Amino acid sequence: MFIQDRISGLRSQLDAVVGKDNVRTSEAETAAYSYDSGLSMAQPEAVIFFDSVQQVAPVVKILSQAKIPFIPRMAGTSLTGGTIPLRGGVILNLSRLNKIIFINTQERTVLVETGVLNAELQKALKPFGYFFPPDPASSAVCTIGGNIAENASGPSRIKYGSTGDSVLRLEVVTPDGETHIWEPDGKSPDLMGLVTGSEGTLGIITRAWLKIQPVPAHTCTTAAAFAVLDQAINAASQLMESGLPLSALEIMDKTTLDASLKRKTFLFPHTMRALLLTDISGDNKEETDRQTEQAVQICLDNSSIKTETACEESDRKKLWDIRNRAFPALARIAPDIVLEEACVPRSKLNEAVKKTREVLRKYRLTAGIVISPGTGSIHPHIVFDRRNQQDLRRVKNARAELTKEAIILGGSVAGDYGIGVDKRLALNWLYSTEELDFLAKIKYAFDPFNLSNPDKILPVNNDADLFEEVGRNHNAANLNPSVHTLLAALRNRADNRISSVVCGSGSQIKPPPETEKLKKLDTRFLTMDPVLNKQNRTLKAGAGVEINTLRALLRDNGMELQMPDTFGTIGGIIASGRAPEITRILLGLEAATAEGVYLNFTQQTLKAARGYDISSIFCGSRGAYGIILSVVLQVCLISEKRIFPPAMPVPFRPEPVHRAFKEAVDPENLLNPWLYPGRKEDNK
Ligand SMILES: Cc1cc2nc3c(=O)[nH]c(=O)nc-3n(C[C@H](O)[C@H](O)[C@H](O)COP(=O)(O)OP(=O)(O)OC[C@H]3O[C@@H](n4cnc5c(N)ncnc54)[C@H](O)[C@@H]3O)c2cc1C
Repeated sequence: MFIQDRISGLRSQLDAVVGKDNVRTSEAETAAYSYDSGLSMAQPEAVIFFDSVQQVAPVVKILSQAKIPFIPRMAGTSLTGGTIPLRGGVILNLSRLNKIIFINTQERTVLVETGVLNAELQKALKPFGYFFPPDPASSAVCTIGGNIAENASGPSRIKYGSTGDSVLRLEVVTPDGETHIWEPDGKSPDLMGLVTGSEGTLGIITRAWLKIQPVPAHTCTTAAAFAVLDQAINAASQLMESGLPLSALEIMDKTTLDASLKRKTFLFPHTMRALLLTDISGDNKEETDRQTEQAVQICLDNSSIKTETACEESDRKKLWDIRNRAFPALARIAPDIVLEEACVPRSKLNEAVKKTREVLRKYRLTAGIVISPGTGSIHPHIVFDRRNQQDLRRVKNARAELTKEAIILGGSVAGDYGIGVDKRLALNWLYSTEELDFLAKIKYAFDPFNLSNPDKILPVNNDADLFEEVGRNHNAANLNPSVHTLLAALRNRADNRISSVVCGSGSQIKPPPETEKLKKLDTRFLTMDPVLNKQNRTLKAGAGVEINTLRALLRDNGMELQMPDTFGTIGGIIASGRAPEITRILLGLEAATAEGVYLNFTQQTLKAARGYDISSIFCGSRGAYGIILSVVLQVCLISEKRIFPPAMPVPFRPEPVHRAFKEAVDPENLLNPWLYPGRKEDNK
């Protein structure tokens, strides 16, 4: 195989930073990095190891100046080809950067280098009575850096969310070789949130400040067997609606159970075709016991044929081992295994499971299915033989069809496992050309030469021709009339180069006076009726709706917003940055660009990989990147609402990358132009 050599000329510089032994270019050593846990393969030109975090930025600078792509890599458990160097370049193996720098139980934080294994961090925290919530099934081998870059999660996501929900601050080496520390402070759009889940395409995460949690004093695990998979899903749905303090929830189908339990089926009847595992946690034993009994009753009411409950750690582990053994047990069935994932709104879970089975049947594939009801994710573990080209083709086609079916049901390209190389074409099913273009501008603002983990997440331009659309409304024809009015006004102003002062209730901005070339654009008329989906726990509302109106609607339904109490329009609150916590519950939004182009980044799924995190870009954007038209928010039960410090206005402090993004999305500086002064002389 021909491998280009762009490294020899840089050897002395690289050796000087990391040492000669840490730069590997031999055929054998680079070949070992040509695959990960997905299906794609390609060989890098070199692999670089690091002995200290301080070596990362200079190496990135050298490679960046030479325009050589670099791919951050940790344990290589990416299931979507996230570490595959499609265009050659250098693998940055960061796995030796694995120091736990401090554990602060008082403030419930840790600082780690990102090569620390998830399991090692858990081990270090255990003696203190704390844990790090993200618990992917791969936790024994995957790293914190990989978890952050993929926004990974496991069964505990139902209580604690995904990795991003436990990240407080990140140290990031951007593709130009500069080091930054970012946290969501509302002073500008949240770059930490944007980098989380960006799969190494926006830079290298070297250190992370993480939130840890105390291990609850009491946890009981219930394993409920069902003769019908749908019954298990219905029971899970009722458990989630019950308000019980669930801290984990997963379902396994019969194929998975057959592989995982093997001869140990004595615990459950042979008629079992699905097993639901759930944890209930709390600090009061009697209460936890009582709540566990309620959970058992919900399972029995949904026709569970047998339940087992364990409250001692060793007994609980035995029940969870049935889940944890699933992957290795299924992997033994055939030479290869690939974990696929469909992510749909919770309310569509039964339908999605039915579709998944149909697709697997159509392609004659064997798969064990694990379901995460909390996020509406279905994980078929497909077993096959990669050496058989027909087998491989059927697997690839089935994966594509499963993704397509999920999108048709209102779901996404992926949930936990990222997009990587393997799923990037599917973004064409989710987004219009304009929406993809907007995402590409985020990448461009960080990485104009496309060097940091290229070919991941974003599809290449002409990929759109390969796929038909899947029924998503990419044009603006069916939009609310108020949105049409606003888009038309923006187009008109763009044609006449008139800038806009974008305002909601106007309480947060102090714009310069209106002139011929600077006119007010009121968004308070964007009051499309709020739509609450109780089962899915989502609320969609026009950006001009007052937050108090939303709260009143939610309270009437026993629900709330997990954010500080504040006032104003929901669009204004998001854009002003005064309640940065809202990024955690903002699932998606519709927006208009300065030129009046409609963008739809809404979603109904609670956890989804959908390209870059648009919520992070709009939260704190002060209206300068686009106008928020409507939002989809995750809602919680009133009983789950936490207390927040009051929301405060914060000064606007953009960074160079914010400016670069502004230049990419609003080159004429038409929206709130005074925020990025010195751009166009006619906007003065
Ligand atoms: C058997 C199995 C079970 C799994 N179960 C789950 C599960 O339950 N939940 C789940 O979410 N995932 C799961 N995964 C997927 C995978 O384990 C996770 O995505 C994990 O977070 C990847 O970590 P890693 O250390 O292996 O990262 P890698 O695979 O090495 O890298 C993953 C991605 O992150 C990028 N990256 C790595 N480090 C950095 C960094 N420091 N800075 C910037 N970018 C970086 C890489 O370029 C790549 O795109 C599973 C995988 C396997 C094989």
